[in-house]
Amino acid sequence: MSDYDFDLFTIGAGSGGVRASRVASAHGAKVAVAEEYRVGGTCVIRGCVPKKMLVYGAHFAEDLEDAKQFGWDLGETSFDWERLRDTVLGDVDRLSKLYTETLENHDVTVFEERAEITGDHEITLASGKVVTAKYILIATGAEPAVLDFPGSEHAITSNEAFHLPEVPKRIMIAGGGYIANEFAGIFHEFGAKVCIVNRSDTLLRGYDQALSDRLLKISMTKGINFHFNTTFKSITKNDDGSLHVELNGDDDQTVDCVLFATGRSPNVEGLGLDVAGVEQGRIGEILVDEYSKTNVDHIYAVGDVTNRVQLTPVAIREGQAFADTVFNNDPRTVSYDHIPSAVFSHPPISAVGLTEGEARNQLGNIRVYQSDFRPMKNVVAGRNERGLYKMIVDAATDKVVGIHMIGPDSPEIMQGFAVAVKAGLTKADFDATVAIHPTMAEELVLLK
Ligand code: FAD
Repeated sequence: MSDYDFDLFTIGAGSGGVRASRVASAHGAKVAVAEEYRVGGTCVIRGCVPKKMLVYGAHFAEDLEDAKQFGWDLGETSFDWERLRDTVLGDVDRLSKLYTETLENHDVTVFEERAEITGDHEITLASGKVVTAKYILIATGAEPAVLDFPGSEHAITSNEAFHLPEVPKRIMIAGGGYIANEFAGIFHEFGAKVCIVNRSDTLLRGYDQALSDRLLKISMTKGINFHFNTTFKSITKNDDGSLHVELNGDDDQTVDCVLFATGRSPNVEGLGLDVAGVEQGRIGEILVDEYSKTNVDHIYAVGDVTNRVQLTPVAIREGQAFADTVFNNDPRTVSYDHIPSAVFSHPPISAVGLTEGEARNQLGNIRVYQSDFRPMKNVVAGRNERGLYKMIVDAATDKVVGIHMIGPDSPEIMQGFAVAVKAGLTKADFDATVAIHPTMAEELVLLK
């Protein structure tokens, strides 16, 4: 008999916490998980999933326009935000229930309340209930970083964006990362006048420069405005509900909504990390070793709270590896090389491996192949929007070390090619593969 109430207590039922809890239980552990908001976590409730549904909804704006050139007369079209919003939120409810059921079917005890560490092996729930566990897993994720200046309380974050009563006529989005660019695309397609305010002149840090430049060009052509090297001075609410925004380095603006997409901070507030003696890094992230173990032997952490790579599939793998290591005596680590990623902008970007700049720094002698083309569908539609595919090859070994794409469906195309890059295939292997014609993806096996 264990001396503890549970073998594992997981704090946070998001991507990492749900996977770890379910698998640990399948390995025979007695598991409980606490969730203070909704089971499913950021990805399911207010991240990847509802965001992607809005991206699909938004894309119809262009599809309906392009349809004319393909012979379709559709008459007058209109867009009903409330209908899409409620459909999306309905599906989020369905998924959250499914996640709860999955946990329960795996005999995981679910506490739908906040939890904090209050002693050695001890957790206290918001209701006052105290439980003990042999191992504690912190999987509390991250929360939107909010800027602090006079009137900043008038701004919203991505959390609120999914619940807006209407599409703002004018929206200002702060930030230059993937979430900022995705929401810029979404709201633009829904008819809002969108501007992005970014404190530097870099968009999509970490992505190949040629792709972010291309997205910037396309976004500007579509009518999205960008204010670079600009920061916020203040926001004042006008009598009609609109917001007067004073900027440093640019003219004042009047908008209906300001959305902060300025990064995500590890969710560690009030968790009891000091009580537990868990070491944290510069921005509060929980420091862990390659097995996701903190400096305290029985406390582990996975997912965004560790600020390694803030993506759902990574959190899931970390949760799985933790459960296999601790509860199945099968020590496993996660490989952080060649993690593919996407920006669901309009058009989307996808990437795997080294950018041209990184490859030059790390490898010196590289070959860069590029295809700058107008997708067939855009040609027929009369849409003057070009795709750009880049392949980076290590000249010494002929290995493909990076692929970067912007263009329709590029994340769908990337998933398969990421396998090839992860497997260390060479440019010669790509060349030896017969193209599927006519596709956009064939560009990657035809690069000269
Ligand atoms: P989370 O999923 O955030 O789960 C943490 C959970 O812990 C939350 O439910 C929270 O309520 C709970 N919690 C926190 N503190 C406590 C406490 N003290 N007690 C009880 N419960 C607590 N990733 C992708 O891979 N692809 C995408 O397209 C993508 N799009 C995104 C779009 C947006 C707008 C956002 C915000 C994120 C997006 N992400 C995307 C990132 C992805 O959502 C996260 O990387 C992922 O959810 C991290 O999983 P996690 O388990 O670490 O944390």
